[in-house]
Amino acid sequence: MLEHSIRTIPDHPKPGILFRDITTLLGDPAAFSAAVDALVAPYTAPAGVAKVAGIEARGFILGGAVAHRLGVGFVPVRKKGKLPHETVRISYALEYGTDEIEVHRDAVTRGERVLLVDDLIATGGTAVAAVDLLRSIGAEVVAAAFVIDLPDLGGAARLRAMGLPVQTLVAFPGH
Ligand code: AMP
Repeated sequence: MLEHSIRTIPDHPKPGILFRDITTLLGDPAAFSAAVDALVAPYTAPAGVAKVAGIEARGFILGGAVAHRLGVGFVPVRKKGKLPHETVRISYALEYGTDEIEVHRDAVTRGERVLLVDDLIATGGTAVAAVDLLRSIGAEVVAAAFVIDLPDLGGAARLRAMGLPVQTLVAFPGH
């Protein structure tokens, strides 16, 4: 069901990319609710997580819903230059060039248990940078959760190799 609620746009944003569009999932109340239920399920124990961190921008929608359902706070991991208070920044490699993400330095307390959420994991570059960034401000990142895995690009395996449990709901083989 979830898989069929995700729309695939060939050659977006450039030739050869199959863009996995979750706006159709978000617009379908049954699919949106099922996705959030599934993302939340492993972390409902009282000591599970204290905060959810979501990666801009689609990770805000899913992570915000997950945080609300868990009754915990939300931490935005943003593109550089957007957060108003004192930030910590990390740069990471893209296919061409680099990008930067940042969080507020005081977004978590030391040792706070954080669940990282994004819509999709591909190479894992973004998620690995977010984990490093959250750890650098004292978070204990306990797991990472994504709606979509592109397993052939190896991102989930990279996170697992860092000792992080990774949960994904739908896998698309290939790119
Ligand atoms: P990566 O850092 O390679 O794991 O890429 C993950 C980030 O890029 C996520 O925030 C995704 O939203 C986005 N992304 C990468 N590949 C795709 C794709 N094929 N379809 C949709 N979003 C993608």
